[in-house]
Amino acid sequence: MRIAVFSTKAYDRRSFEEANERHGHDLTFLEARLQANTAALAAGHEGVCAFVNDNVDAEVVDLLAEQGVELLALRSAGFNHVDVDRAAERGITVVRVPAYSPYAVAEHTVGLMLAVDRRIHRAYNRVREGNFSLEGLLGFDLRSKRVGIIGTGKIGQITARILRGFGCSLRAYDPYPNDEVRDYGVRYVDLDTMFAECDVITLHCPLTPDTHHIINAESIAKMKDGVMIVNTSRGALVDTVAAIEGLKSGKIGNLALDVYEEEGDLFFEDLSDKVITDDVFSRLLTFPNVLITAHQAFFTQEALSNIAETTLSNIAAYTRGDRSGNELTPKNIRPNRGNDDGEDE
Ligand code: NAD
Repeated sequence: MRIAVFSTKAYDRRSFEEANERHGHDLTFLEARLQANTAALAAGHEGVCAFVNDNVDAEVVDLLAEQGVELLALRSAGFNHVDVDRAAERGITVVRVPAYSPYAVAEHTVGLMLAVDRRIHRAYNRVREGNFSLEGLLGFDLRSKRVGIIGTGKIGQITARILRGFGCSLRAYDPYPNDEVRDYGVRYVDLDTMFAECDVITLHCPLTPDTHHIINAESIAKMKDGVMIVNTSRGALVDTVAAIEGLKSGKIGNLALDVYEEEGDLFFEDLSDKVITDDVFSRLLTFPNVLITAHQAFFTQEALSNIAETTLSNIAAYTRGDRSGNELTPKNIRPNRGNDDGEDE
C-alpha cells in the first residue's frame, strides 16, 4: 500500500524505515503538516499517516477522500485532531496507536514535576554561568503532598504508581473509576474536592468537549494557593490566559507543560531564528516557575519503535482485510472518554 507520511522528522523516518523492513509498505515521507493546503500531496496514495498537529478536519477528510485515500493511520493515541465522523461518512478507515509507551509520558510527567519544583531548569543555567547561589531555587518535598490525577487511564495509572513510590497521597477523578487504581492507594474524589485538597494536579484525560479548558479561571480559583499544575495530555485542557492570571496572582506556584493549546504553529520546529508572535506563549516563558517542553513526553526510543511497528501493522491488517482492533469509528468512541478498546502494554 502506498502511504503518504505527513509531518515527518528524521527520527520518524529512521524508526519507520527500520520497522518497514518487516512490512514492505511503500512509504513517501513528507515534511509538510497535513492541512487543507497540503492535502494534495496525498495524491497517488491509498493511505495517509498523520501525527498530532496535523489537522484532519472535515475539509481535509473530504480532500483526501476525493484523491482516493482509503486509510488514515494515526501515529498517535489522541485523535482530537481528526473528524472521525466525517472519515466514516467518506469511507475512510481510521486507525491509531492506542498505547505505545504510557511509561514514557508518565515518567516525563514526574520529571517535569521534580524539575519545576526544584527549579532544575534554572539551576542548570546558573551553574553553567558560575552562579552557585540557591536564592529562588527553594522547592518542597513531594513526600506526603496530595497529588490529584485527572484521568486514570494508561498514563494516569502509571503516574500514580510512580508517585506512590515518592510517598504522595493520591486523589483521582475519572468518570470511569478503576478498582485497580484504588488498590494502589488512590482515592477517587469529585473535581471540586480535588481542587480544594491537592498540592499538585496532573492531567491525563483526553481532550473532548467535556474536558476542554477543564483548568480555567473558575477551577483555578478553587485550588490551594501555590498549587502546581502539570499538563502532559493536550494543550486545550488548560485555559492558558487563566493560567497566566493564576501565575501572576501567585495562586499557581508551579506550572509544567508539555503541551500548549496553540502549539501547532510552534512545536516540533526549530524557530530559534524567528520572532515568536504568540504573545500568550511568550508571556508564559517569562515566569521563573513555569517549565515548558515541546510535546516530547512520548519521545523515547521504545515509544518511537512501538509507534512505527503498530502503525505499520495496522496498515498491514487493513490491506489483508483484517481488523487490527485499533480502528476508530464513531460508534466505539464513548462520549465522555477517549476511545479505549482495552489495549494496554
Ligand atoms: P487512556 O484512554 O488510557 O486514559 C484516558 C482516561 O481519561 C480514561 O480513564 C478516561 O476514562 C478518562 N477520562 C475521560 N474523560 C474524562 C474526564 N472528563 N475527566 C477525567 N478523566 C476523563 O489514555 P492515555 O493513554 O492514558 O492518554 C491520556 C492522554 O495523554 C491522551 O488523551 C493524550 O491526549 C495524552 N498523550 C500525550 C502524549 C505526549 O507526548 N505529551 C503522548 C501520549 C498521550
